[in-house]
Amino acid sequence: MTTVKQEQLSLVEKDRQNVWHHISPYVEKSPPMIWAKGEGAWVTDHEGNRYLDGMSGLWCVNVGYGREELAKAAYDQMKELCYVPMTQGHEPAIELAAKLNEWLDDDYQIFYSNSGSDANEVAFKIARQYHQQNGEASRYKFISRYRAYHGGSMGALAATGQALRKYKYEPLSPGFLHTAPPDNYRRPKGMSVEDYNIMCAEEIEQKIIWEQKETIAGVIMEPLITGGGILIPDPVYVQKVQEICNKHGVLLIIDEVICGFGRTGRKFGHQNFGIKPDIVTMAKGLTSAYLPLSVTAVRKDIYEKFKDSAENSHFRHVNTFGGNPAACAVALKNLEIIEREGLVERADRHGERLRKELAHLADHPYVGDVRGIGFLLGIEMVEDKETREPAAAARVGKIIADCKANGLIVGKNGDTVAGYNNIVTLSPPLACTDEDVDFIISVMKKVFEENK
Ligand code: PLP
Repeated sequence: MTTVKQEQLSLVEKDRQNVWHHISPYVEKSPPMIWAKGEGAWVTDHEGNRYLDGMSGLWCVNVGYGREELAKAAYDQMKELCYVPMTQGHEPAIELAAKLNEWLDDDYQIFYSNSGSDANEVAFKIARQYHQQNGEASRYKFISRYRAYHGGSMGALAATGQALRKYKYEPLSPGFLHTAPPDNYRRPKGMSVEDYNIMCAEEIEQKIIWEQKETIAGVIMEPLITGGGILIPDPVYVQKVQEICNKHGVLLIIDEVICGFGRTGRKFGHQNFGIKPDIVTMAKGLTSAYLPLSVTAVRKDIYEKFKDSAENSHFRHVNTFGGNPAACAVALKNLEIIEREGLVERADRHGERLRKELAHLADHPYVGDVRGIGFLLGIEMVEDKETREPAAAARVGKIIADCKANGLIVGKNGDTVAGYNNIVTLSPPLACTDEDVDFIISVMKKVFEENK
């Protein structure tokens, strides 16, 4: 029982006593930051300290904080009609689905849920049912990659390839297999990037063959691994994986939860690689996180398998909040802002500057590699440039703490990838101004210089 009256506690103490923070240790060395306000790329804590949010929250506030237009879109829609079960329809959901097809530049059927994990669970269920109804009921397994994150629910976590997020919660959903993603910085000595990427793609094909292709339902992957360390494949890898999936009747599910909505300098990350996924999952930047919403976009010919007969016509999945009218209205307005302000192009421009200005960090004694695409950057820290031994947690933690002390929030690829939690990440709001980018560059240069 709590003995101290809640009103006698400070906000920090009250937080400590009542809130269980996500993916955080029980004993925290420093008090959690309590966020109070956001404006553009900047957030202010409850004591008035300002920080540039170099991670857009959790890689999601793409248009930046404090957008009145988005608040108004939600307000107007809530007043007009706050809820519709998605067994029925409403205008914002219909208009959003049409808009997403325009962005995808193809013909998909749009299924709404609430989170990235939900969207991936829906993709797995649709893929399995599709194969059943296509006369291939034995196809139930999914292949994903080590180091990838696909969500926290039992199926999405099974697809995840980060052991530290999983091992205390197992057994998870059966039927999920993993292969190594291309990690170009750590490829075998003497091997070309192209040959190495082809080899990694062929590992997926080998897995399909060894497991018996008639058991494989799908491959799920991000266009590039984000949270697992900004691992950017050569286009040949992504194209070859699509080719392998087509060859073996396996569906290709592309997780655009982080890469979507401009982050990689294209509307969707997979558009960098010239592929056409069978299923695309989205969340985060879809509403710039102003409200929860996610999407599983399913290629039309797969959807058509659900019209064959009365028995096959149901996809027996419902969630109460998926496709909430206010969330859809916010998503539509969010896409309008991204288009009107040219934020996809801006992401590309900002990212190019960031990569150019910070490339020299590769000469830092504890930096092995600097890499990025769009407005997404990873700085891989090592103890030894020759052996490439990943940097110690304390060394990476010091960089992150010093950035924060200088007013810049940067991320790390979690404490989740066994052995490789050594990558400092940047994923700032696409709406950053040129001055914001100057600020990021100057803090990063200063902090790395001071930590030589
Ligand atoms: N997929 C990817 C690539 C993600 O990064 C995440 C979340 O970080 C998810 C799926 C799960 O999304 P959510 O946290 O909305 O369930």
